[in-house]
Amino acid sequence: MVIKPRVRGFVCVTSHPEGCAAHVQQQIDYVKSKGSISGGPKNVLVIGSSTGFGLSSRIAAAFGCGANTMGVFFERPSEEDRLGTAGWYNSIGFTAKAREAGLYARNFNGDAFSNEMKSDVIQAIKDDMGSIDLVVYSLASPRRTHPDTGTVHKSVLKPVGTTYSNRTVDTDRGIVSEITIDPASEAEIADTVAVMGGDDWERWINALDGAGVLAPGATTVAYSYIGPEVTWDIYKNGTIGLAKNDLEAACARIDAKLKGIDANGRALISVNKALVSQASSAIPVVPLYISILYKIMKANGTHEGCIEQMQRLFAERLYNGADLQLDEAGRVRIDDLEMKPEVQTEGAAIWPRVTTENLEELTDIVGYREEFLKMFGFGLPGIDYEADSEPHHPML
Ligand code: NAD
Repeated sequence: MVIKPRVRGFVCVTSHPEGCAAHVQQQIDYVKSKGSISGGPKNVLVIGSSTGFGLSSRIAAAFGCGANTMGVFFERPSEEDRLGTAGWYNSIGFTAKAREAGLYARNFNGDAFSNEMKSDVIQAIKDDMGSIDLVVYSLASPRRTHPDTGTVHKSVLKPVGTTYSNRTVDTDRGIVSEITIDPASEAEIADTVAVMGGDDWERWINALDGAGVLAPGATTVAYSYIGPEVTWDIYKNGTIGLAKNDLEAACARIDAKLKGIDANGRALISVNKALVSQASSAIPVVPLYISILYKIMKANGTHEGCIEQMQRLFAERLYNGADLQLDEAGRVRIDDLEMKPEVQTEGAAIWPRVTTENLEELTDIVGYREEFLKMFGFGLPGIDYEADSEPHHPML
C-alpha cells in the first residue's frame, strides 16, 4: 500500500515502516558521528524504548556505548493489511541495525506496569545478560492498570487548585486560541500520580534487585520536565508536575537502595528539554511553547531533538568521566540550553504576540509539524512516499 500521513488532532494514525527505519538510522548516524562514549553501560534495560526519549536513550546506549539492550514498549503490531504504530517499526529498525553491528537487542511488547512483564524481562536478563548496569525509565502513558488492584488509573493534564487560561495552538490547523481548563479533582490528581509517578519505577527496581539481576554500581534514570513559568500551571504545578514530584521522591528511595547494594549505585532524575513527542503533543499550551522555543533555539544554534539530548546526557553527564552537574535539588539538567535566561526572555516576549495570523512568522510551527510527522516516519530524505510499502513487519 501507499502510505500517507493521516493526522487526527494530536496523533497521526498512520506510520511509514521504511520512514521509521530511516528516522532511527538518522539517530544512529548522529550518535556515531559524536564518537564512542567511555565508561558506559554494557547491558541496558530501557522501559519505554520505542519512541521519544526512550528510543533515543536506547540508540545512545547501543551506538554510543556499544551496549546490549532490552527494550520494553506498548505498541500496536502490524498485520498483513494493517499498519502497526510508529514505535513498532522504530523498534524493528533499531533491532536490525543493532544486530547488524553485533549488538544484542531483544524486545518486549506489552504492559510495563504489569507483574508479568517484569517477570518476563527478569527471566530474559537471567537467560541472556546475567545482569544489567543501566535501567532507563521513560514511560509516558495515559493509563495504568494497577498490578495489585486491577484498577485502571487514567492520567489527566490539568491545573491543580485554580482554573487555568492561556493560549494554545491547534498544531494541525494552525489556529491559536484561548483555552480554559478547570482544576483537577483530588481523584484525578491521585490517578495521574498513580500513572506517571514513581511507584512503577520503584517496583521495577525492587523486582530487578529481588531477582539479583542488577549489576553492582548500577545506574537508573527517569525523565522529568520543568520548563518556563508560562507553562507551570499546566505542567510543573499541574497534575503531571505532582506526578513528577512523586517520581523524584521515588528517586531518592531508589538511590538509597542502590547505594546500599554498592557505593557506586545511583538513581537519577534527568530534567530534559521540551520537544515534540507523542506524549508532549497531547499537552495543552506546550506545543505552542515548543514552536516558539524551536524558533529561538534554531536561530541561536542550540536546537536539540531527542537524540541530541540523549547523546549529551550519556556523553556529558552520565558517562565519559563527566561531572553530573546536579542542580540544587540533586537533578541532572539537560534542559540547560532551553532554560538559558536569554532564550526564556525572548520566548516570554514572543508569547503574548502570537496569533493565528502571525503563527508562521513568530514561531517555528512549520518545524514543529515536520518533527511531528517525522515521528511517524514521514518526511525523511531518501524515502519514496509514492511507492508501495509492505505494512506487515514481524518483530525481530
Ligand atoms: P513517548 O510517548 O515518545 O514514549 C513513551 C514510551 O512509553 C513509548 O515507548 C511507549 O510504547 C511506552 N509505553 C507507554 N505505555 C506503556 C505501557 N503501559 N507499557 C510499556 N510501554 C509503554 O514519550 P516521551 O515524550 O519520550 O516521554 C518519556 C519521558 O520523558 C516521560 O517521563 C516524559 O514525561 C519525559 N519528558 C518528556 C519531555 C517532552 O517534551 N517530550 C520533556 C521532558 C521529559
